[in-house]
Amino acid sequence: MIDTIFALSSGSPPAGIAIVRISGPSAFRAVEQMAGPLAAPRRAVLRTIRDHEGVVLDEAIVLIFPGPASATGEDCAEFHCHGGRAVVSAILAALGAVSGLRAAEPGEFTRRAFGNGKIDLAQAESLGDLLAAETELQRRVAQAGVGGLLSGMVERWRAEVLMLSAMIEAALDFSDEDDVDALPRDFAKLCQPLEEEIAHALARPRAERLRDGIRVVLAGPPNSGKSSLFNALLGDGAAIVSPIAGTTRDVIERSVAFAGLPFVLVDTAGLREGGAGEIEAIGIARAHDQIDSADIVLWLGAEGRGPDCALEVETKIDQFESPRKLRPAWRVSSIHGTGLKELEAELVTRAALLLPKPNDAPVNARQAELLSDALFNLADATSSDLLIKAEALRRARLAFDRLLGSTGTEDMLDTLFGRFCIGK
Ligand code: GDP
Repeated sequence: MIDTIFALSSGSPPAGIAIVRISGPSAFRAVEQMAGPLAAPRRAVLRTIRDHEGVVLDEAIVLIFPGPASATGEDCAEFHCHGGRAVVSAILAALGAVSGLRAAEPGEFTRRAFGNGKIDLAQAESLGDLLAAETELQRRVAQAGVGGLLSGMVERWRAEVLMLSAMIEAALDFSDEDDVDALPRDFAKLCQPLEEEIAHALARPRAERLRDGIRVVLAGPPNSGKSSLFNALLGDGAAIVSPIAGTTRDVIERSVAFAGLPFVLVDTAGLREGGAGEIEAIGIARAHDQIDSADIVLWLGAEGRGPDCALEVETKIDQFESPRKLRPAWRVSSIHGTGLKELEAELVTRAALLLPKPNDAPVNARQAELLSDALFNLADATSSDLLIKAEALRRARLAFDRLLGSTGTEDMLDTLFGRFCIGK
């Protein structure tokens, strides 16, 4: 017997309302025990919620969603109750006292949705991204993933591989029958568009880039205005600003969104050669590490002395009449805010080139590994040996199955029989 699970599905109390979800075979029995007769499916009704001794816990909206047409595929119910801590605790405690019910594990509702075929693994992964999304681009990309953008693409590739497999199976098993075509001479060419599409998907910016944000490292000698610019770009007082050289001894990083794109701003210790104490020297070494792993470096030091490809930034422009940096540089005053919007716009332009687009269906490391595996096997499908071809395509399909979290080979036979009219 499958357990029935329950959990607070809305944010942590206190809040205006709280949503408690229940899923499993005993969900409706629990609702009847605590809230009286069941209402029509998906119809919101106001009910008094009581514990097993009849003590009133709250007045709440109650909804039921009979499986399989529910989020998890099981019978589901929701209590929309008052969002006070004590109300929520009392309702959760009362649910825990109903036989056959237990508190859900993290992610268990989604896991059940996946187990019941409501979503595939790629969609479940996007759902995780959607819940974690903090910027507009992260939300849009994750939303597209939950909606099945990547899954649809992989399913299409899988279907194409099935067709190719079916042709080989037919050539292997039924080549003596008159009404079955032999394997086309240009079979290898048939695989090519598929290989190209997968290679393109692998070459696009990865999902992790979007999740982690574009790393912008502020670098330069002590006192060049790094912490001031860091704070000005963040718009709060996150880093320590001081006229004493060497104040930022370690690395400070903060996440921030510009134009809906995710960034991590990194303030580093001032770079200088010699004269640094032991602790400052560690900070300088870490600053160099940060520069090496940066997507964008803003160089606030002397012109041309920064890392390759760094953006030259001239700071404290309110203090100087003529520019000290001769090449076109981003000229800012962190105190007055001059030039900050322009610098921010430049960061957004550069980041947009490094991040996936909303319709890119970016893949994560797990998915990329499986797609690489599929690509590797598709290359083997050009072998002259039919059995090697068949095995290579089977492995490519397995990689797609793993990506989507599904298994099974029955549909391969369906395709084969459907295409070649075996039953006639
Ligand atoms: P860091 O050591 O590179 O992080 O430099 P800080 O941000 O601590 O700045 C060093 C000094 O320069 C501080 O006294 C800041 O107030 C000052 N400063 C930084 N940016 C500006 C600016 O845009 N205009 C002016 N007038 N002073 C600035």
